[in-house]
Amino acid sequence: MNQRNNRRLALFPVPFQGYINPKLHLAQILHDQGFSITILHTDLNSPDPSSHPHFTFRSISDGLRQSEASTSDGVRLMTLLNARCAAPFEERLREEVSSLDAPVTCLIADALFGFNRDAAERAGVRRMVLRTTGATSFRVLAGFRSLRGRGYLPIEESRLEDPVPEFPPIRVKDLPRITGEPELLDQILNDMIEGIKDSSGVILNTFEDLEQPALSLLRQEYPIAVFPIGPFHKCGPSSSGSLLAEDRSCISWLDKQAPNLVVYVSFGSIASVNDQQPFLWVIRPGSVSSSELLENLPSCFLEALEERGKIVKWAPQHEVLAHRAVGAFWTHNGWNSTLESISKGVLMICMPCFSDQNVNARFVSDVWRVGVHLNNGLERRKIAEAIRRLLRAARFKEKANSCLMQGGSSFQSLDGLANHILSSES
Ligand code: UDP
Repeated sequence: MNQRNNRRLALFPVPFQGYINPKLHLAQILHDQGFSITILHTDLNSPDPSSHPHFTFRSISDGLRQSEASTSDGVRLMTLLNARCAAPFEERLREEVSSLDAPVTCLIADALFGFNRDAAERAGVRRMVLRTTGATSFRVLAGFRSLRGRGYLPIEESRLEDPVPEFPPIRVKDLPRITGEPELLDQILNDMIEGIKDSSGVILNTFEDLEQPALSLLRQEYPIAVFPIGPFHKCGPSSSGSLLAEDRSCISWLDKQAPNLVVYVSFGSIASVNDQQPFLWVIRPGSVSSSELLENLPSCFLEALEERGKIVKWAPQHEVLAHRAVGAFWTHNGWNSTLESISKGVLMICMPCFSDQNVNARFVSDVWRVGVHLNNGLERRKIAEAIRRLLRAARFKEKANSCLMQGGSSFQSLDGLANHILSSES
């Protein structure tokens, strides 16, 4: 472990919650392995350094105006970030690599920041890549262009139920829904694939027991070291990367509820639940068209609601999922939420919206069978089916825990990763 103390790693997350959380957790994991950590971050959504006093934080000026930072067109925003960050990032990386004090010896880049590749090469530093989605959805996304070439994309209503034989059990309706200019998207995806292919290795927030078939195909397709060391979030404080303040009043509300009855709802669009069902619902500011929805609800309504339901703007999600009162998670199936739910053994009611979420939801319902896929609202039959899946959810929770223990697949992969970083530096 001593050998690692003077090895400094730089990590640079894409500045959105679903990317920041796994990157900071990975940083914590590597810090626990004895490495020193520098977090490079954009001005947009910069993380709070006080949550990580043992990391060094360095900002990269992204030059984005507030009006340019909208996530309504994610492809355009990623393209802008790639263009604006390239030069300041390279300058900063060169400084960090040549620092006399504690030079950075390895960059852990984000797959969606294509400029990392040239910058690292010119700065003469090793580069590994973190891909924050699952292995399965990564393969589907990497095949996006060829799926388009074979007519599966853009998705046509008449073909929704058609199977996509390359990625069983995916159907056309499960393919990633990404709006934005196709040329810009192709550029981002191409940079992602090439950037991974010639990196020193890819790190994934997943584990063998969950995605073994996809991981094995990935190893055949990419001639580089692959390190599935997840679930990351089990190795650090849950609040570490939250960009919004967590409303902890939901925990004391949960404390008053009966075991396993509460449905935790978090995916940011308007949904309705059975009026007999207790629920805790996150309505993130800006996630519904009336952005001040929560402020405009009369306080007497919220007080009356407290008996059965609780609404917050942002929840301490790990703690909520671990709470004895929570029996199900009605989710959009972002990869982090999916993995967090699996590792807590909480049943998922899947309501995917876009990007990799549809692929994740299909695997949750049809492959791992730890949740149900909602196509036409909340049907009683589906809920009954979900309850039968409780046992499987418990089994996967066990697997998610045991892979991190000594001798487990993620434990061994992490050991391999630490040695790989050291060996590639010599
Ligand atoms: N999250 C949270 N509180 C909330 C809602 C979400 O802490 O009220 C966290 C959640 O634990 C997860 C992340 O935000 O780590 C969301 O990432 P995910 O990949 O699930 O979805 P995305 O935001 O990328 O769509």
